[in-house]
Amino acid sequence: MTQLTFKTVKTRKPHKCWGCTKEYPVGTKMNYSVAVDQGEFSDSYWCEECNDFLSTLGSWQTEDGFFFGDLLNFEEYIQESRK
Ligand SMILES: [Zn+2]
Repeated sequence: MTQLTFKTVKTRKPHKCWGCTKEYPVGTKMNYSVAVDQGEFSDSYWCEECNDFLSTLGSWQTEDGFFFGDLLNFEEYIQESRK
């Protein structure tokens, strides 16, 4: 998977966070990512909380990308969001 774009945007439409599946309203600061995987483009939005969590992961954990809601499968993520 190759990441083409990763930037912070203010959403103009409600978007679901790819990591935690929560829906965020218009005007939320989210991280927008575009990646290409075997010729297929995929774009996703990430909330700041998930983005912080991603930055704590090693590259071996992120190189294959994530399915929708995948961060909820990380025990560390659940603990982090309970603080
Ligand atoms: Zn999230």
